[in-house]
Amino acid sequence: MTQASRDDLWRDFPKTAPEFEARFATEDDCRAYWIMARWGDEPACQRCQSKRVGRLMRNGTLFACADCGHQTSLTSGTLLEGTRKPFKTWFRAVFEVASHRNGISAKDLQRIMGFGSYETAWTWLHKLRTALVRPEREPLAADVQVDEALVKAGVNELVLVASEAGGRVRLAHVENNDTDTCKLFATGQIAPDAHVVTDGHAGYNAKSLEKRTHEPKVQTKAERAESDAVQNCHWTISLLKRWLLGTHAGAIRDKHLQAYLDEFAFRHNRRKTKGIGRIAARVIEQLVTRPPRTMRALVDQTRRCRWYGSVKPAPA
Ligand SMILES: [Zn+2]
Repeated sequence: MTQASRDDLWRDFPKTAPEFEARFATEDDCRAYWIMARWGDEPACQRCQSKRVGRLMRNGTLFACADCGHQTSLTSGTLLEGTRKPFKTWFRAVFEVASHRNGISAKDLQRIMGFGSYETAWTWLHKLRTALVRPEREPLAADVQVDEALVKAGVNELVLVASEAGGRVRLAHVENNDTDTCKLFATGQIAPDAHVVTDGHAGYNAKSLEKRTHEPKVQTKAERAESDAVQNCHWTISLLKRWLLGTHAGAIRDKHLQAYLDEFAFRHNRRKTKGIGRIAARVIEQLVTRPPRTMRALVDQTRRCRWYGSVKPAPA
């Protein structure tokens, strides 16, 4: 997709419910937007990339290639692969997720969408939540505070938080905060030449933070009250706890905590930009570019931290 058409995608995305109803009045409207988001212009054959494709078949969800005969579904190879729901329903859900500034609970989504079950609303929301965060995010840079906190998700779970002076945050649900875990977190989230301020916890050291300059601050309660060295982390954690209890009524399972942390960070890092269109276009962009994951796999995922076992070295 060209940059120009991607820009148009978010400009073109409705900002209000009446605008949404007008812009995406029919399944055809939504399908055209999906095709634009996925292919830029005309759909291409999934097997031979030919643009010579016939008209849409089977309720407009499938097209056949004029060159090789292969049939490509509009959703195959995307996060929406296998869905039986119309695009219009998905687009409406994307709009709700994007337009609620603090996010939306599964209960509210169920009511708005008229879903029969809470479980359906929850799995839809979870799928869209995983689409909020681009896997290859820029690491936090320059001055970064790092701290940890216990967050209630069933039982108390340990969360590492990093906060950049500019205001961006990253959060990771972790097993513990030993040197190896802190190193995984730093490698994935903090630029290799950053300056890192922490408390005196032993897991933050030259082995875990490597070449980053490190300023451990051991503070008494009185000193912290005067000037907290990791104030931004503490603010972030208290906002996070309020959000989990407020929007989500505290109903978080530990195995899904990371997805909520990602959604929180995504919204927090964009809190100053007004942009339903940008958020919605981002979600749809991720829906078309990310490989499929079944609802079952999403619900059953057991990995506690996205960085375990999949650490990519930070760019040098
Ligand atoms: Zn083909």
